[in-house]
Amino acid sequence: MIDYSSCVACQECGQLHRYNPVAPGKTATCQRCGSVLYRNRPHMLESVLALTLAGLVLFILSNWLPLLGLRAQSIEQEFHLLGASIAFWDGGYHVLAALIVLNTIVFPLFELLALLIVLLTIRYRWEPSLAIVLFRWMRELKPWGMLEVFMLGILVAMVKLGDMATLIMGTALWSFAGLVVTMTAATSLLEPFVVWRELGRDKRVPTN
Ligand SMILES: [Zn+2]
Repeated sequence: MIDYSSCVACQECGQLHRYNPVAPGKTATCQRCGSVLYRNRPHMLESVLALTLAGLVLFILSNWLPLLGLRAQSIEQEFHLLGASIAFWDGGYHVLAALIVLNTIVFPLFELLALLIVLLTIRYRWEPSLAIVLFRWMRELKPWGMLEVFMLGILVAMVKLGDMATLIMGTALWSFAGLVVTMTAATSLLEPFVVWRELGRDKRVPTN
């Protein structure tokens, strides 16, 4: 009988391989197409956990502090992320307001909290049912979180508004930029293969 728990399927071509641990810093590749099967990144889970905690702090700052200030004819106006969404909603731009809230608040917060629960479940060997559902949803929702696009939108708006009023960059703008970098770093460091393997540890079929 084949022990599927010790097999790895290539994400690109589906070729099955027997799992063999690789040395730290090394990568296992597919025999058929050459795609990366899994990597052994030393302290990967700890690094992603640190980035997730940093991301949560930056997320709170991004939403708590003013994002932008506008000064024109001695009148100064500050904008918060949520305040801007409410203003769009009140102005009749319901879809735009909903998209801003989803992409800058709901999806990033879900991703950060889900990742935190997944990493803590692995670290402290908690019962993995919730972490498994959260990690699957995290992977499904990933393409919908467009923080980078929103950041680009802010920069374009700043260039346009620069001619009409004096712009004051709020602390939240820097926190937001930090959040984009932190979440991108966490995503690129994270090895889903290792996460699934750790979460499924207790469910593996005994090999002997
Ligand atoms: Zn392959």
